[in-house]
Amino acid sequence: MTVLPSLLCRPALLPDESWWSYLHRLAAANGYGSFSLLAKVCNLRLAELGARDNLMRPQRPETFAVLATLTHRPPRELALASAHYFAQASIWPPMETINLDFGDGTSLPLLRSLLRSRYVLRPDAAQFCPTCLQEAAYHRRTWMLADVSACLRHQRLLHNRCPHCQAWVSVANIVRRQCGRCGAHLTDVVKEEGLASEGLSAQRTLQVWWGLGDPTPESYLESLPSQPPYVLYPLFELILQALEPSVSKHTPPAERHRRQTVAFSALTDWPRGFWAFLRARLEDDVRLYSYRYGYDFRDPVYLDHRSSLNFWFTVFREDPRFDFVQVAVERFLEENNVQICSSSWKTWMRVTADEDLQKIARPMAKQAHARLAELVAS
Ligand SMILES: [Zn+2]
Ligand SMILES: [Zn+2]
Repeated sequence: MTVLPSLLCRPALLPDESWWSYLHRLAAANGYGSFSLLAKVCNLRLAELGARDNLMRPQRPETFAVLATLTHRPPRELALASAHYFAQASIWPPMETINLDFGDGTSLPLLRSLLRSRYVLRPDAAQFCPTCLQEAAYHRRTWMLADVSACLRHQRLLHNRCPHCQAWVSVANIVRRQCGRCGAHLTDVVKEEGLASEGLSAQRTLQVWWGLGDPTPESYLESLPSQPPYVLYPLFELILQALEPSVSKHTPPAERHRRQTVAFSALTDWPRGFWAFLRARLEDDVRLYSYRYGYDFRDPVYLDHRSSLNFWFTVFREDPRFDFVQVAVERFLEENNVQICSSSWKTWMRVTADEDLQKIARPMAKQAHARLAELVAS
């Protein structure tokens, strides 16, 4: 097997450059017409080492070692440009990690495939900040994450579609700054309205948790419950899910940004933000119940285990890390006249609705009665 020991052109990694971006620039710099040719060279090398891997989703230390030989760059530096960088984030609970051992005395924790596919966007459905891209034509590691919806430096939303034809953009398109379908310049985006400070703070906090950006304490961070990110992050995810069950990582950045901001407001000014969130769940339950049963809550009523609020007083019970949430939930129940009743096999809640809840329930009950009368008449 005769393969060149290293590539002729070996560009340096740019600040915050992603692994995918580097591979595309490397292929272009060395005159490989397509990226797949570079992948072929790497796969041949890997085969010689008796290993197999996917260059776009590298999971083996040998892959970084091969690229290190081709580019004369330390394998760890290359791996830090990949999704494995996020294995060091503060959102993960302390646990045993598998290390990528590069064989030169350096290593890096491995980001498991399951986590990567959940939190990291795919290179064929990527996102970018038009201003960053205007400044320098490459794809940033920061943009790899679905939780990143805005550029903090330029205080603007990221984009994941061609501004002209709305096609998805790939990392290859971003590196060329051109849409792969219609050829439009990806930086020709009209600057959207400035982002609200709550949204930016939520985004800043998320990025700090992921190990991106400057971890200087912000007033916003101070109004969060004083718990480590690996406790707050799963709580944030549960709230996000409760608010918008259909959120996917391919949702447009603007929409993801809006949802993150709303979910974060439930964590700030703890526990007041969380109480407002629970109150909205309770109001939803009352609305649904009164419509379904034509009930106006003048007398107490029992909501069963299907109630959306039910989730919030059962989910944290067994986990001492979430005691602070349990305490907040109990205070909320008490102040809103909600009692939890449980038998050995069932949990439900007895709601004595206050004036405001009755105001919500009454029109819904009326509507339900009218609908029933209509049905009976027909
Ligand atoms: Zn930017
Ligand atoms: Zn286009």
